[in-house]
Amino acid sequence: MVIVMQQGATDAELAQLVEAVRTAGGDAFVSRGVNRTIVGVVAGEEVLAALDVLPLGGVAEVVRITSPYKLVSRENHARTSVVHVGGVPIGPATFTLIAGPCAVESLEQTREAAALAKAAGATLLRGGAYKPRTSPYAFQGLGVAGLKILAQVGAEVGLPIVTEVVDAADVAVVADHADMLQVGTRNMSNFALLQAVGAIGKPVLLKRGLTATYEEWLMAAEYVAQRGNLDIVLCERGVRGFESSIRNMLDISAVPMMHELSHLPVVVDPSHAAGRRDLVVPLARAAIAAGADGVMVDVHAHPEQARCDGPQALSGDVLDELAAVVRHWPALIGRGPAG
Ligand code: PEP
Ligand code: MN
Repeated sequence: MVIVMQQGATDAELAQLVEAVRTAGGDAFVSRGVNRTIVGVVAGEEVLAALDVLPLGGVAEVVRITSPYKLVSRENHARTSVVHVGGVPIGPATFTLIAGPCAVESLEQTREAAALAKAAGATLLRGGAYKPRTSPYAFQGLGVAGLKILAQVGAEVGLPIVTEVVDAADVAVVADHADMLQVGTRNMSNFALLQAVGAIGKPVLLKRGLTATYEEWLMAAEYVAQRGNLDIVLCERGVRGFESSIRNMLDISAVPMMHELSHLPVVVDPSHAAGRRDLVVPLARAAIAAGADGVMVDVHAHPEQARCDGPQALSGDVLDELAAVVRHWPALIGRGPAG
C-alpha cells in the first residue's frame, strides 16, 4: 500500500499516520520528496485490509499495490507518465531524440557534436563528464570541467542536458549543471547512488543493468522513487549475451514489457547496445516500432578521433538516416516530436 500525503500535511499528521500503521502491525517507510511525501506500507494482507488511514489528517490518497515495486508499478496508473526534462517531454504522446557525444572531450568537440545532434532533431543533449570505463587506463572523463562545457554548450544550442553520475558524492555538483541525471548500467544496483539521485529531485535516466531482470531494474527505479522522485525514465541498452560480434543484445521485449509493468516512460540506447554504427539505425527503427518513448544515440563529428566509443558514434550519412527515421517513423504510430 502507498499513502500519498497532501501537499500541506504537517509533521504531526505524518507522525500520527506512521503511528497508526505501526500500531496495526505494519511497517511504514516515509519518502520525503521535493514535491510530495509518500508513505510506503508493508504489511500482511489482514493488516492492510483492516487499516483505515484515509480519514486521518493530511492523507490525500491510499493506493493498494500488489507488485514488489509499489511506486513505479503500472497498477493504478492507466496512463504512462510524462517526464519533463528542462521543459522537454518524454512520454507516450511524443518521441524524444537524445543525442550527443559519448564523452565530453573538449569545448570544440562538444560544440560540433551538439550542432550535429540538434540538426538531426535532438531535443536533449547527452554527454559524459564522468565515464564508467571498464579499464582504469581508459579516458575517465573531464569531471567538473566536462560538466561546465556541457552546460555551456547546452545553453548555446538551447538543449537541456543529460549526463551520467557515477558516485553518490558527485550527485550535487552534477545536479547543479545538468537537467537530467543518468545512472549507467554498471551502477544500476548502486543503491546509495540511486537514493542520492532520488533525493536531489532532478529527472533520472535509469539504464538497465548488464544482467538485470525486469524486476531488478524496476526495484532499482523504486529506490529512486522511494526518495519522492518519480521523474524517472527507463533506458534499455542491451544485456550481456553470448554473441561476440555485437557488444550487447538489445532486448526489444523490454520496451513493451516495461510499459506493461510500469507507468514510467521507456527509451532505448541502440548505440551502447550494438557498439557499432551500422546497427544503430535498424535498432532505432525497432525501438520505435516496439513503442519506445525515445532513443538516445552517440554522435561525434570525427568518430575516428573519439576518446570513447568511436565505433558506435554517428555522423554524416548514417546520422542523416537516423534523423529521417526519427522524423518520420514515430508519426506512423501517432507520436509527435518532442520540443
Ligand atoms: C553511456 O551512456 O555513456 C554509457 C556508459 O552507457 P551504459 O551505462 O549503458 O554502458
Ligand atoms: Mn559510451
